[in-house]
Amino acid sequence: MIHMKDRQYIRIRGPKLQRVRLNLRSILSLVYKSESERIHEELENLRFNKKWERVTIDKMTESQVKRYREIQAYQNDLRERLRISIVLCDRCGTIDGDRYYNKTFRSWFCPKCVDEIRREHLKMMEKRKAGTYSCPDDNGEFGQSFM
Ligand SMILES: [Zn+2]
Repeated sequence: MIHMKDRQYIRIRGPKLQRVRLNLRSILSLVYKSESERIHEELENLRFNKKWERVTIDKMTESQVKRYREIQAYQNDLRERLRISIVLCDRCGTIDGDRYYNKTFRSWFCPKCVDEIRREHLKMMEKRKAGTYSCPDDNGEFGQSFM
């Protein structure tokens, strides 16, 4: 079992290993892209008939609706798996570089984004102290989880 600290950096210093890491992530993101395109095509084949007329869900057969829902669920699952994977930064989407794991959000971030999130959070806290911060939707939980 892998024991993961609450927040942790995964760093690779050797340029050769950095290249290997980037190549592996490139392959994984290409696999994701190819699978996404395949799924999209299958959904389009259900959404449109042979004359390229739109088929609404109430016009589909029971098995088509079932298949449509299965594909949608798979598509969402695939998207979520990529989002929480180490392959890309959850904020900027870069596939290159070191990663920081944020357990609160079960996701990986690049060091550049971590620095920006921390800076923005500190700025927000100062504004909050000064009473000049007015964003009721942001309780600071996201930024705080990086501190
Ligand atoms: Zn990033």
